[in-house]
Amino acid sequence: MKCTVCERELVFNEMGLSRKFAGGVPYCMTCLSEKLHVTEERLREKIEEFLRAGCLMFVKED
Ligand SMILES: [Zn+2]
Repeated sequence: MKCTVCERELVFNEMGLSRKFAGGVPYCMTCLSEKLHVTEERLREKIEEFLRAGCLMFVKED
């Protein structure tokens, strides 16, 4: 799946973020942060929150 804006191939967690925040339209982290007017760091924090909640749309990143 590729980002709808820049056509970069999405990683697993970016697909999860796209489902959560863009209604399933594929966005990479960079383009999603611009769309939502938040920092990429904030999106990484959201991933951590979803992981702690046991959401299976995300995996642990290094
Ligand atoms: Zn993009």
